[in-house]
Amino acid sequence: MTISVFELFSIGIGPSSSHTVGPMRAAAMFTDELQARDLLSDVTAVRVELYGSLAATGAGHGTMSAILLGLEGLRPESIETDEKEHRIEILRATGQLRLGGRILIDLAEDEIVLHPHTVLDFHPNGMTLTAYARDGHELWTQTYFSVGGGSVVSDVDQVATSKPVDDIEFRTAAQLVSLAQDSGRSVSAVMFDFERTRRPAHEVRNRLRHIRDVMVRCQANGISRTGYLPGSLHVRRRAKDWYDKLSAQDPNHDPTFAEDWVNLVALAVNEENASGGRVVTAPTNGAAGIIPAVLHYALNYTEAGERDPDDTIIRFLLTAGAIGSLYVERSSISGAVVGCQGEVGSAASMAAGALAEILGGTPEQVENAAEIAMEHSLGLTCDPIGGLVQIPCIERNAISAGKAINAARMALRGDGTHRVSLDEVIETMLATGRDMSSKYKETSTGGLAAQVSVNLIEC
Ligand code: SF4
Repeated sequence: MTISVFELFSIGIGPSSSHTVGPMRAAAMFTDELQARDLLSDVTAVRVELYGSLAATGAGHGTMSAILLGLEGLRPESIETDEKEHRIEILRATGQLRLGGRILIDLAEDEIVLHPHTVLDFHPNGMTLTAYARDGHELWTQTYFSVGGGSVVSDVDQVATSKPVDDIEFRTAAQLVSLAQDSGRSVSAVMFDFERTRRPAHEVRNRLRHIRDVMVRCQANGISRTGYLPGSLHVRRRAKDWYDKLSAQDPNHDPTFAEDWVNLVALAVNEENASGGRVVTAPTNGAAGIIPAVLHYALNYTEAGERDPDDTIIRFLLTAGAIGSLYVERSSISGAVVGCQGEVGSAASMAAGALAEILGGTPEQVENAAEIAMEHSLGLTCDPIGGLVQIPCIERNAISAGKAINAARMALRGDGTHRVSLDEVIETMLATGRDMSSKYKETSTGGLAAQVSVNLIEC
């Protein structure tokens, strides 16, 4: 089934969509369920167990504190970053939380039970929450999976499927291109027609504008901060310094400096994400800088962007969403399942296709651009040092934004015909991810994470 652009671009908090946003949503869903079953006031204790990648790298991703906030009924899309920090301070100082915002229970981050070597069948990012009554009997238990991009499924709803609707939905890139070709529509128009089956046209446009606004705020926040990112890596923030230098060097936005500005946007967004700030999953937090960076390029360095910025934003995000839907449907956007090719690779592919459309590309050229960007991201491993979404993630976003722009420009040089299809590359990405050792799938036990020593206790 086609995945909505609003599932791919959701507003949350850093540093990770699968390890921070998803677990927080899952904990809030658990609290909702207790409330719906009228059990909340009977709860005196909650046990939280994390499995696989969530347990292995949860400390560096802020997973534990996110879960405690979720149990309080707070949600990643609405919590203010100041409120988040304030509540975390209180949780750490007291070792207590307010379940559903009102029932005081004892639960500290270090009481969360970790099973890093146990991977549940459905997905490597599993978590089980169990609520107990005063006499110790179990009131309710539920297992959730954070499947990437902040999306969560519970063990009772993972079988949900729906049949594609002809002329509206697509499952493959070939179907997407033929839907566009048969009706003379662009890829963004096909996606817009799909979104209109879910909400009115004006709401689709307004929500896309809001997503872009949050992306810009995130970028501005990243540029405004100095000092060091959280955690023991002592990574210095660079966005503010780069911004000051670039603004002085290039006050009139000469195209010669386009690549520098694109790098800066990616850097700023990912520094903000790494520090737990407000961010748009695109399609994940770790890869959140690529789409804003390439959108910046589309708005400032293309004829369409200068002529009609509003239309460019909407078409760009819809096209990116259409391509992202293919990755969610046919492979994975989770680093814990397929490595970084699923996060940064998918984002580069989405951005490349979107830019190709803004540059006037046909649906075939859009598909070609998305294919090129992923073909040359295949095998990209996930090995964040210390489990922190900082190295290699931040620079990797900037490098991959450049790759996306290059892929779009290459596709525009051709006529859209090419030897390897996007569908074949997506299948290859999934197969490569399955073959990859778990060391390279968000466990921080291989690659750079294994080579560069860091004191994990401080992370
Ligand atoms: S290496 Fe890639 S997949 Fe892994 S945390 Fe960083 S951005 Fe995400």
